[in-house]
Amino acid sequence: MPRKRLMTPGPTEVPEAALQAMGRQVTHHRTPQFRALLAEVLEGLKHVLRTDNDVVLLASSGTGGMEAAVTNLVPRGGKALVLESGVFSRRWSDICRRYGIDVHTVAVPWGQAIQTKAVEQALRAHPDAVAVFGTLMESSTGTGHDIEAIGSVVGASDALFVVDGISGAGAMRCLTDAWHVDVLVVGSQKALMVPPGLAVLSVSAAAWRQMDRIQPQAFYFDLKLHRAKLAGPDTPWTPAHTLIAGLAESLRLIRAEGIENVWQRCERLAEMTRAGVVAMGLEVFSDRSAAGMTAVRVPAGIDAGQLLSRLEQRFGVKLASGQLELKGKIFRIAHFGLLDELDIIATLAAIELVLDELRHPVKLGAAAAAASLALRESERTLHVATS
Ligand SMILES: *Cc1c(COP(=O)(O)O)cnc(C)c1O
Repeated sequence: MPRKRLMTPGPTEVPEAALQAMGRQVTHHRTPQFRALLAEVLEGLKHVLRTDNDVVLLASSGTGGMEAAVTNLVPRGGKALVLESGVFSRRWSDICRRYGIDVHTVAVPWGQAIQTKAVEQALRAHPDAVAVFGTLMESSTGTGHDIEAIGSVVGASDALFVVDGISGAGAMRCLTDAWHVDVLVVGSQKALMVPPGLAVLSVSAAAWRQMDRIQPQAFYFDLKLHRAKLAGPDTPWTPAHTLIAGLAESLRLIRAEGIENVWQRCERLAEMTRAGVVAMGLEVFSDRSAAGMTAVRVPAGIDAGQLLSRLEQRFGVKLASGQLELKGKIFRIAHFGLLDELDIIATLAAIELVLDELRHPVKLGAAAAAASLALRESERTLHVATS
């Protein structure tokens, strides 16, 4: 059995310390010990998300956090602008429609990034939009969005800015408050390196004010019930406190590295991955490839399913396939969480070996060489920048 490398944009590998924390006996959650743990976790999350806003933890996967944002902010019949660029950003529209919200979209072909100008135009056409729903890292296409630029436009309007940072937060630079993000949604099984089951939301004062004006179309996900418990801190329902104990450990690791350094590591791994992909003669799929992951076009004549299953069977490398319209057309390599330089070099070498086995022309070792050069280059740049 080859050693496993989980290189998918969620779930990601969980650090040893977090695994051990989650392996302890279950305790009760209405205790000073749990409140202290929760307080530490909320502080850690504020560091990672670069926010001074309130942070709420929900027991759900990331999509539950998206649903909470929609149902608490936009009333039935209210207007929402959705920035659609792939599977996950389309989910904002699906959730909004399910709750009777009037959805208008700014859409781009998958693999492209939303243009700030288009958001500006849409806001001018829809000044009554309650919220703009965007995506930090559209992980179905590997696109990283310019949330800073889009945020400056949304911040100048009356609309709230809600961002799906489920996989992006902690994998790419995101200054939640400075970039005018009112609500950022994050999932535990991505860059936070814990198992699936927790959603995190940062909530701005403006977002709370909007929630005070409307009745949420939700009960379990009523964020005001969570706000009422934040002073403790406490939670309105039984929290997923085993996962929260794991999260405390992951956050300690992130804080020890420093979130700026985490972003920089992901960026370095992204440069290495792109260099390796190109050196193999393959093509990066996205026009604005994200720091946290790289989507790669499947070369003509190669069966994506066969490529991915051989990678997993022979080398233990688990990559993600394309979803929906992109099934069979791309595969996706994540480079965030616990992953490091040698994981990238190993993965690139494994892809090359499998392509060679499938009789696709490659020069063995070319990708690893290109990635190593990119690594040396990024270290030089870093050295120049810090010396
Ligand atoms: C993973 C992911 C989701 C879905 O989260 P779940 O935890 O599966 O509900 C949504 N958006 C993005 C950008 C993601 O990467």
